[in-house]
Amino acid sequence: MKTATKYIHAGAEPDPSTGAIMTPIYQTSTYVQEAPGVNKGYEYARSQNPTRTALEEAYAQIENGKFGLAFSSGVAATDTVMKLLVPGDEVIAANDMYGGTYRLFSKIYEKFGIQFTYVDTTHAANIEQAISAKTKLVWIETPTNPLMNISDIEAIAKITKAKNVLLCVDNTFASPYLQNPLDLGADIVMHSATKYLGGHSDVIQGALMMNDAALREQLYFIQKSCGAVPGPMDCFLVLRGIKTLHLRMQRHCENGAKIAHWLRNHPKVGKVYWCGFEDHPGYAIAKKQMRDFGGMLSFELKDDSMEAAKKVLSSTKLFSLAESLGGVESLINHPATMTHASIPREKRIANGLSDTLIRLSIGVEDADDLIADLEKALA
Ligand SMILES: *Cc1c(COP(=O)(O)O)cnc(C)c1O
Repeated sequence: MKTATKYIHAGAEPDPSTGAIMTPIYQTSTYVQEAPGVNKGYEYARSQNPTRTALEEAYAQIENGKFGLAFSSGVAATDTVMKLLVPGDEVIAANDMYGGTYRLFSKIYEKFGIQFTYVDTTHAANIEQAISAKTKLVWIETPTNPLMNISDIEAIAKITKAKNVLLCVDNTFASPYLQNPLDLGADIVMHSATKYLGGHSDVIQGALMMNDAALREQLYFIQKSCGAVPGPMDCFLVLRGIKTLHLRMQRHCENGAKIAHWLRNHPKVGKVYWCGFEDHPGYAIAKKQMRDFGGMLSFELKDDSMEAAKKVLSSTKLFSLAESLGGVESLINHPATMTHASIPREKRIANGLSDTLIRLSIGVEDADDLIADLEKALA
């Protein structure tokens, strides 16, 4: 089935009791059983909920996976993957990734005796070198947040497969519309569905997708044992969001390309980070593993003072100053004080994330209006 058709029909069966074409919001905590142990597959809503079941089916399909699981947030999905591990296990993670993932790893899981090695995953060989007998998981993000670095999923999957190590890819920035890591050999895909999947900045949710039935069982066991499940209303919102993912992503990509090129030619703008530039170091890999380049980009001003950056950050009208990304409306963000403040400054600078970097989530408005807004703010 082609993408557009899949996004509209994934997980959507008419409601068996009424024929409702849209999956109802099953706002219930429990289900009446006919006799002890005789039920319709639903016992208690932490374990199963029909709205969530429909969404989990959709999650599987949109990532070309066999199974999907929904969580109360993206970090809850990440947390669930981490609970596959035991003290003494090692994780190799990207040195440039979502600040909240780094915080979970360094502030929560280190305490429980999990060891982390952070490497530059844009070179797959760095991962191969770092893998030891204790390594159980490799965690990557591509494109990365906020520097738009690209890692070669297929090359990394070859390494992890050979060493019997799980590979989990945070696919939030690309969305399933642009990239499908399971097809490239990853074992688990993680999404913050809060972003492009929900698409309307009105829900917090996370997802995991996988092909291996035993792995699905382990992750489902953690989901129901630890309880970070989303409510049915949130599942309904993400189901609705997925139906227009392809339409939104097309426009995010078109607008992203226009604004990236425009910024690059602007006399006040310094470096622009966008993986669609032919001279971007990850361009060839992006071209190979992604269908387009997305709507996320970052840039620095030629004037690298904090005042200049702050001025731009507080002068836009259409771009709202806020954390998050992937909604229909455009957002402007200051990683150093907002999304990435949980990463120590020395570490940020060492990874190339300057104090004055500005990140944009390009929405689906008219590109000319967005450019005019940035033009005014830069002036
Ligand atoms: C937002 C985000 C997360 C965390 O997801 P939440 O839904 O906020 O918990 C993880 N990874 C990336 C790349 C993100 O942008």
